[in-house]
Amino acid sequence: METTGFTENQMTVREAVATLCAKFPNSYWQEHDRNEEDPTEFHAALAKDGWLGIALPEELGGSGLGISEATMMMQTIAESGAGMAGAQSIHANVYATQPLAKFGTKKQREHTIPRIIAGEWRTCFGVTEPDTGLDTLRLRTAARKSADGQSYSVTGQKIWITCAQVARKMMLLARTTPLEEVRKPSEGLSLFCIDLDRPSSSSASSSSTGLEMRKIKKMGGRAVDANEVFFDNYQIPADALVGTENQGFRAILHGMNAERCLLAGEALGLGYAAVARAAGYARERVVFGRPIGANQGIAHPLADAYMRLEAAKLATYHAARLYDGSTAAEKERAAGGDDKNVGVIRQDAVAVAANSAKYLAAEAAFTACERAVLTHGGMGYAAEYDVERWLRECLVPRIAPVSREMIMNYIGEKVLGLPRSY
Ligand SMILES: Cc1cc2nc3c(=O)[nH]c(=O)nc-3n(C[C@H](O)[C@H](O)[C@H](O)COP(=O)(O)OP(=O)(O)OC[C@H]3O[C@@H](n4cnc5c(N)ncnc54)[C@H](O)[C@@H]3O)c2cc1C
Repeated sequence: METTGFTENQMTVREAVATLCAKFPNSYWQEHDRNEEDPTEFHAALAKDGWLGIALPEELGGSGLGISEATMMMQTIAESGAGMAGAQSIHANVYATQPLAKFGTKKQREHTIPRIIAGEWRTCFGVTEPDTGLDTLRLRTAARKSADGQSYSVTGQKIWITCAQVARKMMLLARTTPLEEVRKPSEGLSLFCIDLDRPSSSSASSSSTGLEMRKIKKMGGRAVDANEVFFDNYQIPADALVGTENQGFRAILHGMNAERCLLAGEALGLGYAAVARAAGYARERVVFGRPIGANQGIAHPLADAYMRLEAAKLATYHAARLYDGSTAAEKERAAGGDDKNVGVIRQDAVAVAANSAKYLAAEAAFTACERAVLTHGGMGYAAEYDVERWLRECLVPRIAPVSREMIMNYIGEKVLGLPRSY
């Protein structure tokens, strides 16, 4: 990747994280993928050096940096060869904690965030449901308040929850007012930071507490678990509520653009790793008496893949810069600063940039990973060469947390003024 133009902070992050990741070679990730084994040591190493708090407030033990630096960190992790598995093992700790830091009470923040930064606890993000899919606002998992107001009872099902088996906490989005009783579907949802109370055995479930989990067998990123999570009258204390009851969607929205930037960074990392690996192979592999890279049929697709990544990189760090700029302006306004001085970055501009970046980076990564496999010929299909692992993993940023189609729906409607198609 061309690094001209990045800030000193971003380059410091890149160099330090790359040095740490070098201790976890591709053989580590191959083995953990094969055995579907959590990269516990990797998560612990990042926590030990304070990286999980990169974008969390300094008073809670974080570094107080922005999404521009966090995106660089996630890119560097993926680019090291750790791929999406490495990134996903820490992703939620970095970004699902953002709404907690912003909307949580002092007690919630001080109780949870330092422990997550230290790596003592891990967290996961519970939004997706099997019967609602991308139509998030119609989610059905219900949290009903007890008569004495001291607790909620949660009933419903979540799906695809990454790292739920190893997480102590879940940021849970649930309905506190039935859909039929709200004016708009975005109302009546609440955000909770809950304990996942289950037996210590990671694969076990506990019907006695009203919480069960089932691991999903999946295509890639097998080192990290993805789960169906079932709640059946699962009891949580009332003080697990984050922010205002029935206003949880607003809190979640806050983190969504940040997450799109981080995922764009992860996709870029995977893509750059794949192109670099393919170019190395193309320089060395000799067939018909010359390196295969001497054939334009091999060189041009790789050059094209590299340029697509470079374009997506510009979009990604532009989006992250806008996000950080809007957050800084918001803070200054809250502190009574002059609007004229802080400048105006519209939230819809941030959203368009973040969605575009996620789309472009995911597509560029897919192109790069597919071409890396083809460049390797038969060996592209062998686990030993890593590119098959990266190709399996690069589908994730195309699907999650929002699909390509929904991003195009969004741009069509909000930017091009086309009729809403869903
Ligand atoms: C590896 C992985 C990890 C994940 N981790 C988490 C996690 O930790 N926490 C969490 O909450 N979720 C997680 N998810 C879930 C992820 O966010 C969802 O899979 C994603 O949002 C897509 O939702 P869905 O699978 O229900 O697709 P669906 O909503 O069923 O959509 C299926 C297809 O139809 C298309 N489609 C649907 N409606 C329209 C429309 N109106 N116009 C055009 N096309 C449409 C979609 O684009 C998609 O291609 C994860 C998913 C994966 C694969």
